[in-house]
Amino acid sequence: MTGSQEAPDEEFDVAVVGAGVVGCAIARAFAQRGMSVALLDSRSDVGDVTSKANTAILHTGYDAKPGTLESRLVARGYQLLGDYAAKAGIPVEPLGALLVAWDVEQAETLPELAEQAVANGYEHTRQVDAEEVRRREPHLGDGQFGALEVPGESIICPWTTTLAFATEAVRHGARLLLGHTVLGVEPAEEHVVLDTDRGKVRARHVVNAAGLGSDEVHRMFGHKSFSVTPRRGQLIVFDKLARSLLNHILLPVPSKFGKGVLVSPTVYGNVMLGPTAENMDDRTATESTEDGMAMLRDKGRRILPALLDEEVTTVYAGLRAATEHSDYQISFHPEQRYVCVGGIRSTGLTSSLAIAEHLTEQMAAWPGLDLSGPPLEAAPPRMPSIGQAQARPHQDAGLIAQDPAYGEIVCFCERVSRGEIRDALHSDIPPADIGGLRRRTRAGMGRCQGFFCGSAVSRMIRDGADAPIAAEIIK
Ligand SMILES: Cc1cc2nc3c(=O)[nH]c(=O)nc-3n(C[C@H](O)[C@H](O)[C@H](O)COP(=O)(O)OP(=O)(O)OC[C@H]3O[C@@H](n4cnc5c(N)ncnc54)[C@H](O)[C@@H]3O)c2cc1C
Repeated sequence: MTGSQEAPDEEFDVAVVGAGVVGCAIARAFAQRGMSVALLDSRSDVGDVTSKANTAILHTGYDAKPGTLESRLVARGYQLLGDYAAKAGIPVEPLGALLVAWDVEQAETLPELAEQAVANGYEHTRQVDAEEVRRREPHLGDGQFGALEVPGESIICPWTTTLAFATEAVRHGARLLLGHTVLGVEPAEEHVVLDTDRGKVRARHVVNAAGLGSDEVHRMFGHKSFSVTPRRGQLIVFDKLARSLLNHILLPVPSKFGKGVLVSPTVYGNVMLGPTAENMDDRTATESTEDGMAMLRDKGRRILPALLDEEVTTVYAGLRAATEHSDYQISFHPEQRYVCVGGIRSTGLTSSLAIAEHLTEQMAAWPGLDLSGPPLEAAPPRMPSIGQAQARPHQDAGLIAQDPAYGEIVCFCERVSRGEIRDALHSDIPPADIGGLRRRTRAGMGRCQGFFCGSAVSRMIRDGADAPIAAEIIK
């Protein structure tokens, strides 16, 4: 089952609540080991909340708080996801980051940050003087005092990552129950019943990976150890013509207020500026605001002045599941057959595979769960090539000769062919709407934002991948 159907009448080994990047990684880990898994989410697609709206950096973990679980899992996740991405074809570009100091005080903290990186097990940072920074980033604003280079920081596609984990879970038999909101739990001796708006789901063990809703699910099990305060991050995405303005991820020196505003290329060939950090009451407040945009433009003007002259392609905002604690809220409750994976704030994309590994290690001794052996050997699914640095189907003459649909461009801004849209619609986890198709193919996410191809793409979603498209659209 990979869609919005009624709750199944069977007992699962594990139910995972939340199909964001973390829940999908966890479902994959259990399904790979032969467990029967239900993966539930309120939304109609995987990765449709925080996991689709972040800054998409594969972090080395150099700047984490040493000694925390987050620090350990980010460092481990960096390795695991880097290796997995190479096998699955997830777009990654190892650009490296420059952490730029904009005043003397910030410059003085660079050696401390280098020491912190070593304490986190990352030994490759290097201090770079202002002249070298200027040479390597000629468009940078005036007045920088040098930088700390973090060569391992990379950019990654967050959408393909979540989809790859979910696809692998489903291929190992996991049941994806989209459109299922967990409203309550009924613990019993041998299992837990999840009450959803689509019926009851019975499982011997439950993992709460509900992101912004993780504290609410935690309370359903009687625990009140943390509450989520959504921390909004707004971002501006600039046109691809801005890409030549920078060579690295340009990070600010972090302060007690957070990681700050960065300028970074994306794997789709754009440049992003953001994010803001605003504590919100509303767990759905993903709108962009005038104040947020003005603040980002101010910061951006200082970092990379020419960026502000470029066209804006789009804006978006995501909500971090911040809590009153400065670490992940992962807790094990074997007596309740329950694990909480909450408060995965601003690094969960990177740490996702390490979190899943942590769970399988910690739960190995739980009765009724045979996790002792290694995961079944399986090649990760090969994901569609949607990164700008990868060869795309429309550039592959051999592929087009075999299947001309890869040569029929539907979205001209992003060069997406009818063949790719057809493949997405026929995939293990097809998109439920145009947003889902965009995350799988890039169709409609270019500079015209679907103005040109939107109707053709909607028709393909509605009528099927082979629906006729007006001749003037496909050229
Ligand atoms: C602005 C911003 C920038 C970031 N930058 C980075 C970065 O550069 N690198 C990085 O590694 N990380 C980054 N992050 C963090 C990363 O995006 C998150 O840590 C990660 O996406 C969290 O994944 P998740 O699966 O825990 O949560 P989510 O993706 O939110 O998934 C949780 C899911 O649970 C579902 N759910 C909730 N309640 C229920 C319920 N009762 N019943 C059923 N389903 C439910 C939701 O619908 C949702 O799909 C950033 C985050 C933000 C907001």
